[in-house]
Order: sequence, then C-alpha cells, then structure tokens
Amino acid sequence: MGSGSSTCSKYPAEKNYPKYTTHDNLVRKHLTLEIYSQLYKKVTPNGVTLDKCIQPSIDFTGKILGLVAGDEQSYEYFKSLFDPVIDEKHLGFSPADKHPAPELEPAHLTEGELDDKYVKSCRIRTGRSVRGLRLPPSMDRAERREVEQVVTEALGRLTGDLAGHYFPLSDMAPEDEKRLIEDHFLFQKPTGHLMVNSGAVRDWPDGRGIWHTDNKKFLVWLNEEDHVRLISMQQGGDMKATFELFCRALNEVEHQMKQKGHEWMHSSRLGYITTCPSNIGTGIRCSVLIQLHKLSKDPRFDKIVEALELQKRGSAGEHTEAVDDTYDLSNAARLKKTECEFVQLVVNSVHKIIAMEKALENGESIDDLIPEAAKE
Ligand code: ADP
Ligand code: MG
Repeated sequence: MGSGSSTCSKYPAEKNYPKYTTHDNLVRKHLTLEIYSQLYKKVTPNGVTLDKCIQPSIDFTGKILGLVAGDEQSYEYFKSLFDPVIDEKHLGFSPADKHPAPELEPAHLTEGELDDKYVKSCRIRTGRSVRGLRLPPSMDRAERREVEQVVTEALGRLTGDLAGHYFPLSDMAPEDEKRLIEDHFLFQKPTGHLMVNSGAVRDWPDGRGIWHTDNKKFLVWLNEEDHVRLISMQQGGDMKATFELFCRALNEVEHQMKQKGHEWMHSSRLGYITTCPSNIGTGIRCSVLIQLHKLSKDPRFDKIVEALELQKRGSAGEHTEAVDDTYDLSNAARLKKTECEFVQLVVNSVHKIIAMEKALENGESIDDLIPEAAKE
C-alpha cells in the first residue's frame, strides 16, 4: 500500500465487475467495465479502494447516488468515476469547472429577514472533514475517536456566546436523546441506504455526539454522515442573524483547529470535501421551517419549489412527512455558488413563496407570481 498501484484483487476486472440488474444509480450508469478495469486495483495512501466507494451502488437497487468517498484522496484517485457522477448530480460540473472560493460574509446578504408569521425557524448547516483521517465509510474506531477528540478540544476553547458543552451519545439518557431529536437539534442513527450500505454507520454510537452552546443556537454533530456538521439555528425568520452566527462560529472553530495544526479537507476545485459527493462545494443546506396552509395545497406547489431551486422535506427533515402544512424548504444545490449566494437564493425564493401564500389568503390568483419554469 502507499504507492496507489498495489493490487487488491488477483482476478481480472471482468471477474470482479458488479452485476447490476434493476439498479437505478449513477455509478451503474457511469462505471463501464473499462473504467472499472483502470481503477479497481488502485489503493489510496490510506488504503481506500474503488470497491469501498461503490459498495452502496451494488447493495441497493433503488434510486440513490451509489457513491461515497472513503477518504479525501478518493475524489482524485478515482476521478474517472467521481467526475462524471459529480457532473450529472450537480447538473453540469466538468473537470475544467471550479467551485468558487468560500464567502462567509453576512454583510453581503440582503433582505435576510423573513416574515415569521410563516417562517417558524431558520437553520444553516454544513459538513466538514478533518484532513488526514479517513471518512466514515472507511474510518476505524480509533480515527472516529480522534475526530471526536480533535474537534471537541477545539470547540472547548470557544468563548463568550460560543462557549458550550459536548454530549457523547454513549452517555446520553434515551429520553434526553429522544427530546433532542424531537426538538430538531440532534440526528437520528442514519437509515438511508447510502450511509448504511457504505459502512458509515458501523460501531454506533461509539464516537458520536453533539456539542452545543447553552442556548442551542450553534450546534455541532460529531461523526454522523460527515466527521463534523456545523449548524446555526434559531426560532423565527431572522436568516440574517442565523447566517451571522454561522459565519462567526465557523471562522472561530477553524481558527481553533489551526492553532493545534488541524485543518478541514478542502480542494480548490471541489470546495469542502464531504462523505457524499452530493454535499461537496459549500456543504450548505440553508433551510426554513415554513407553514403554508394555502400554497402547499396548490397542485403546482412541487413545481414552484423546484423552479425556485429549492428542495422540500417534511417537518422533521429528510424522509419525513409535513405536519400541519409545515415544510422544510432549503437550497437544492451545494456546489457552484458560494455560501452567501446559497443563503441569498433561499431568502429570495422564500420571499416569493410568502408572496404567493399571501395572495392565496386574499383569494387572489398567483398566476403572475409563479416562476416561468413552473408553468409548463
Ligand atoms: P441535514 O442532514 O441537512 O442536517 P435533516 O433533513 O436530516 O437535515 O434534518 C435534521 C434536523 O434538522 C431535523 O430535525 C429537521 O427537522 C431539522 N431542521 C432542518 N431545517 C430546520 C429549520 N429551518 N428549523 C428547525 N429545524 C430544522
Ligand atoms: Mg441528514
């Protein structure tokens, strides 16, 4: 191992090539025998193989991406597969394209205050990975504990309104865990096929936990889908304040990490490196919990959401249903725009959604407010 050319299978590529049947994923689509032959014997310096990265594409036939990164180098070593998958998933991102530099600049955001008659809460999250350690599908228990140690140590040095405490999952009373999940603060053990079949959920709950400030406006998830998820959230519609805290906290955490010689995985082309190629770039999901009694019942609702470049989730997040017409609306993409641009996109789109909801409340037509792309 180490050279990137070690052999991991003594058999020829065609004998080891996955048997796809009804599989509906992007790996199946782009992993020709030719590409597989080029890549299947390569091993990254951390010992990650192509087969590790494509395992979810084989063990589940339904619609998923099918690809995960086992380490930072997976994106480079296996780029003849990662690049076409990324290109398709992110609706156009060629090998010559470059994600913009980070823009954690709350002053650049305009009209960030959303009507809290409709917007119940704001949240901005991103994913980060600690350089030098393998990613969840490949990491061992010691590496997971190392992430936990390095990151909680940096968080422990935050001061003022950013000071907080770490709560490891293994020490948490079941009722406390349940309450934190119900209150939208904590992750659940992932059940999605990409995460489960990639091995990212092994050894649960070892090394997993949540760190948060006393007021729970800044929260950090440890060793869920990514090494680290950093979250700024608050009640009401003040996305500007949510973004201000997000930027300040991220800069401060990064500074504290650097003090001890640690940095996040980052590529000048792909932006921040995450486990799932769908999150690379900014890793940002900027969301509102928004109550839309009228618009959500309009048959064009899904098309409107899509045309505004938003993604819709249920009241308790991914794979849940909306309760009391309350939806989680967020930016659909993560790549090709800056952090600030994605937050601005959500703000602009949510203002438009609220205008439509108000028109419907007044018994008016929304035909003139609907984006062109949602009309056909
Ligand atoms: P992600 O993986 O992007 O963090 P999930 O869909 O797994 O998102 O949701 C995680 C939790 O965050 C869920 O409890 C969800 O309801 C909560 N959440 C998402 N957006 C908001 C928001 N704007 N306000 C309050 N809670 C939110
Ligand atoms: Mg999630």
